[in-house]
Amino acid sequence: MTARTNLLNFDPAQLVAWCGELGEKPFRAKQLQRWIHQFGASDFDAMTDLAKSLRDKLKLHAVVAAPAVISDHTSNDGTRKWLLDVGQGNAVETVFIPEENRGTLCISTQAGCAVNCRFCSTGKQGFSRNLSMAEIIGQLWMAEFELRRTKGIEPGPKGERQITNVVMMGMGEPLLNYEPTVTALKLMLDDNAYGLSRRRVTLSTSGVVPMIDKLSQDCPVALAVSLHASNDSLRDNLVPLNKKYPLAELLAACQRYLEFAPRDFVTLEYCMLDGVNDTDAHAHELVALVAPLSCKFNLIPFNPFPESGLLRSNNVRIKAFAQILMDAGIVTTIRKTRGDDIDAACGQLAGEVQDRTNLQERTQKIADYQQKYGKDFGRLVEIRE
Ligand code: SAH
Ligand code: SF4
Repeated sequence: MTARTNLLNFDPAQLVAWCGELGEKPFRAKQLQRWIHQFGASDFDAMTDLAKSLRDKLKLHAVVAAPAVISDHTSNDGTRKWLLDVGQGNAVETVFIPEENRGTLCISTQAGCAVNCRFCSTGKQGFSRNLSMAEIIGQLWMAEFELRRTKGIEPGPKGERQITNVVMMGMGEPLLNYEPTVTALKLMLDDNAYGLSRRRVTLSTSGVVPMIDKLSQDCPVALAVSLHASNDSLRDNLVPLNKKYPLAELLAACQRYLEFAPRDFVTLEYCMLDGVNDTDAHAHELVALVAPLSCKFNLIPFNPFPESGLLRSNNVRIKAFAQILMDAGIVTTIRKTRGDDIDAACGQLAGEVQDRTNLQERTQKIADYQQKYGKDFGRLVEIRE
């Protein structure tokens, strides 16, 4: 039997083209797309307004398959995390963060990451591989309809939507897996699929300058940039990609992006590392650095992990740092850690599932570390803007 095509790999135009090859008109592709992305259907026989002949062709040639769920945990605060199997012993995380008036899904774009930032556990695992479009959009597809099933909400465009915001802030550097990421973004925005507004979809990057420009042309969603440092020598050390695209180039790219962005600011993420990048002097240097740019700061309390050798800045320090930015007129928020009771090792276990011995060892190591440094450990965070 020839391999069947996974329809989650197609954006709207590609689905039209593929249906064309089957001898079907474009409106059939739209119907099919709505069944998949608005009703969460994967069983072609359930697609009742498609002709029986088309359903038979689909059964023969196609499949709708998201990555398999390895584990599914819900935290006391409602945060829900799935670990998904992406083959060859690799796993990625998807996290749903419910809030009063919205639900945010944090999705991954790569298994591992090659950028290797000093404070990031994903980077420490090294790079395994890029996720396909089906594996990226499959996270949204799986999560949206699974959340609805849990609550007993009808599928369909009128069913109460659970995911109102998407952030590409899970594992991996989205702009180093450009094509599948942008294809997934287009489907998130499409009215015959998820219909999310550009403002509600945020891509976070460590600063791949040429791809920031390309994104502004191809699919300008809200942009978050992981800054983490107030000068080049510090950033070279924390985010190695800075050696290739230093701060002046990165900030110029942010400025260019604003011409096309759905919001009139860029979010700058800044991970608060005790004694490394969190002094008053760093804050003042930052104010001068970003002065020309319309931006907001999001300070992220560092979530420690054993191999990092780094510690989180204390709350008094984080607040004092935020105050300096705010006194300079920059809107600044501090991220709150969410969901840390469901898996202390958030972001640490993925990618290790193939090796059970190693997994056990790591779990123990993390439990020890948690005992030493407290429970707020892991990388689940709430985004406040
Ligand atoms: N690769 C992209 C997106 C994924 S990381 C990027 O770097 O922007 C999403 C955010 O999580 C980044 O801002 C990153 O700095 C932050 N992060 C990574 N490890 C962290 C940790 N241990 N504690 C707190 N934030 C972390
Ligand atoms: Fe990669 Fe982002 Fe982690 Fe850096 S912070 S290693 S870019 S996932």
